[in-house]
Amino acid sequence: MGKPRTPGGRARRTHELLGEEYPEAVCELDHQDPFQLLVATILSAQCTDKRVNMVTPDLFAAYPTPEDLAAAPLAHVEELVRSTGFFATKARNIVGMAQELVHRFDGRVPGKMSDLVSLPGVGRKTANVVRSVALGLPGLPVDTHVARITGLLGITEHKDPVKIELELNPMVPAAERGDFSMRLIFHGRRVCIARRPRCHECVLAWFCPSAGD
Ligand code: SF4
Repeated sequence: MGKPRTPGGRARRTHELLGEEYPEAVCELDHQDPFQLLVATILSAQCTDKRVNMVTPDLFAAYPTPEDLAAAPLAHVEELVRSTGFFATKARNIVGMAQELVHRFDGRVPGKMSDLVSLPGVGRKTANVVRSVALGLPGLPVDTHVARITGLLGITEHKDPVKIELELNPMVPAAERGDFSMRLIFHGRRVCIARRPRCHECVLAWFCPSAGD
């Protein structure tokens, strides 16, 4: 098979090959519903999924619904999320987000991008995680792995995550955008590691313009 020569062609081959490589690629943040995923994703900023998964069981046991979290004492929430880092901001954001859900959205997580990004602590990346993983809607989260690897693969020249997302969207079928992102995140954690990419183990190396040894 010839090398894909266009950004769209490279995106399609990447999606196919990483799909074979990581058939189990799913969101690694533990959650039971869209509200819990929204909270967990806000907590995951600058923090590992593993660490978030260690704090959310106690947090969700204490405050299982948006109504409960909206009325929570901030100091207790700070204590519960302390080990995820930036805990004061994160606690304020998740309590503020829950209050907005209760006051503006009848206690439910909205699906519209413009509604999601109007919530405290929610940017497009978080909104796209919730849309694609928990709500069954199109969403292509661009995190540090997605931005780095699509650049290395010559799929985009943009550095800004929003510009990358908008450029990638038409290259991937709407229903598969979340999977595309998740596969790149798996690849970035296991093979195309930021400090030392393992190009010799990479299934994309035969067409990656950045492939080294
Ligand atoms: S060949 Fe190397 S740089 Fe290219 S995607 Fe694979 S690991 Fe990353």
